[in-house]
Amino acid sequence: MLRAKLSAKVSPLMLELTPKGLYCRAGNFYIDPSGAVDHAVVTHAHSDHARRGSRQYYCATSGVSLLKTRLGKNITVRGLAFGEVLRLGGVEISLHPAGHILGSAQVRLEYAGQVWVASGDYKRDPDPTCEPFESVKCDVFVTEATFGTPGYAWKKDADLGKQIHTWWNTNAARGVNSVLFAYSLGKAQRVLGVLHPHATKEVYCHPAATALNDCYRAQGINLASTRCLSTLRVGESLRGELLLVPQSFLRSDQGQVLGGRYETAFASGWMAKGSHGFRGGYDRGFVMSDHADWNDLVRTVIETGAKTVYVQHRGNGALVKHLRTLGLQAFPDTELTPKQPDQLAFF
Ligand SMILES: [Zn+2]
Ligand SMILES: [Zn+2]
Repeated sequence: MLRAKLSAKVSPLMLELTPKGLYCRAGNFYIDPSGAVDHAVVTHAHSDHARRGSRQYYCATSGVSLLKTRLGKNITVRGLAFGEVLRLGGVEISLHPAGHILGSAQVRLEYAGQVWVASGDYKRDPDPTCEPFESVKCDVFVTEATFGTPGYAWKKDADLGKQIHTWWNTNAARGVNSVLFAYSLGKAQRVLGVLHPHATKEVYCHPAATALNDCYRAQGINLASTRCLSTLRVGESLRGELLLVPQSFLRSDQGQVLGGRYETAFASGWMAKGSHGFRGGYDRGFVMSDHADWNDLVRTVIETGAKTVYVQHRGNGALVKHLRTLGLQAFPDTELTPKQPDQLAFF
């Protein structure tokens, strides 16, 4: 009797949280493993998701060149078109757009009549440089929650390209350079994408972004024209230019090209706190996140129709608590460990 009660309450786990990350026992593969494994399904090429050393990688076709740029040309990687089904150990795997960066994917798993979706990083805001997020129906949703506290909610209609271009122009009129800090994969290309309709001259890019820009352009994504900072001659200095660089730039010798005349800005979701006085030491903050804000996290969970939700990068646990008030079975991802033999009986 007790046993029957327990098995009714606890659903079987298609994904387990292991020291190497999310593992699918039935298909013997990992999603975004933290170390080398035989079969790695990679949601996207950011370094906290794509790591070296695995024998076989799988990712969205539009993300293959980014993964190779990050992990090395010689990796063995199979690109999957969005929606294409791959079978591993009887598990049907398909990738669906996550709207985070080019080629970023949610992973849908179907096995024994159950559907799980692992979101990877995702956002719902428009972004001309990647495939738009697609809601995928499932029984169990494993969601990221980078901005999983209610304070992080931002306007969706901001014309960021225009805002950045105006800031650049205003500085240029004074002979001042505009230094915009942005991660070299994803954020830098999104800035170039939203600037594409506005920019009339080249944007200077850090060498770390140059090869990645090329990957985007090769996939037909329109980016503002760029010039690599490595093409500057020694001693050359800039006036009124826009530079897209990582934050380490100002501390390096390369910062000398600014001739001491510059303003700084940061493009990030963390700038959403700017409305409460937080600027983090930058002259300007552009609220540009590649993750879903609080409202979009909640909306997305509801759209999947999942009755059970596991939350990754869960911050202070606010999302888990909130989803429970909506009647969902919500847990931190640490609960993705089999607690009872019933949970493994599934396989
Ligand atoms: Zn990411
Ligand atoms: Zn991430």
